[in-house]
Amino acid sequence: MKIDIQSVSKRYGQLWALKDLTLQVEASRCLALIGPSGGGKSTTLRLLAGLEKPDEGSLSINGNRLPIEANPLREYRKTIGVVFQAYNLFPHLDAVSNITLPLEVVHGLSQTEAHERAYALLERFQLTEHGAKKPAELSGGQNQRVAIARALAPQPEFLLFDEPTSALDPEMTAEVLDVIESLIQEGKRIIIVTHQMGFAKRAAETIALIANGCVEELAGAEELFSNPRSEVTQRFLAKALNY
Ligand code: ADP
Ligand code: MG
Repeated sequence: MKIDIQSVSKRYGQLWALKDLTLQVEASRCLALIGPSGGGKSTTLRLLAGLEKPDEGSLSINGNRLPIEANPLREYRKTIGVVFQAYNLFPHLDAVSNITLPLEVVHGLSQTEAHERAYALLERFQLTEHGAKKPAELSGGQNQRVAIARALAPQPEFLLFDEPTSALDPEMTAEVLDVIESLIQEGKRIIIVTHQMGFAKRAAETIALIANGCVEELAGAEELFSNPRSEVTQRFLAKALNY
């Protein structure tokens, strides 16, 4: 996966969430975005997901520039999977329907095809017996695994995660991070915003530290943790690794 973000700025009212952010990464299986709260990680991810548009600058993935017009942008969004912190499942639908509905409505699969894919993913994530349950009847970890199954079901080119474990207790965090690591091991391309430094070090090849709306530091995972160059990174890691 080749990511090329060139001088991107994004403003909300008077506030610049991203200011002249540039990020070039080649062939990384897993890129982790870390950094202080409010630094611009989620905004970067939403831009990469095509959920928002930059005010300035451009984003390319694998050499293809992200479209700006509504129709191509909608097509682009079909090629990626996104998982958010708070799972964003439909509360009135059971686990199976949460997975099959987008497959049928957005991706045009038949009911049979959609159900086959959904059950295969539920089985893979040890959720088979929970298929008929609604989000309120499932644990946080189970819901997040349903959300990951839903994101994977259309067989996207890559997956974006925004703090997928921030709402979970330690046991469920481990359960969800294991699933994400297994995806990386099988070759899925992933960009993840995370506060789990152990996971970032273990699973990501490349880490970008985003603060104050730009990339403070970009380095290999080992390198960033053993030899952080920027002062902002050093301060962030000192805090993040100490709690
Ligand atoms: P992070 O994910 O690193 O915590 P964000 O990308 O969410 O940071 O936010 C960057 C900055 O942009 C913050 O100051 C945040 O308050 C602001 N921001 C993000 N989204 C919005 C929005 N939809 N409306 C207004 N301000 C926003
Ligand atoms: Mg965020």
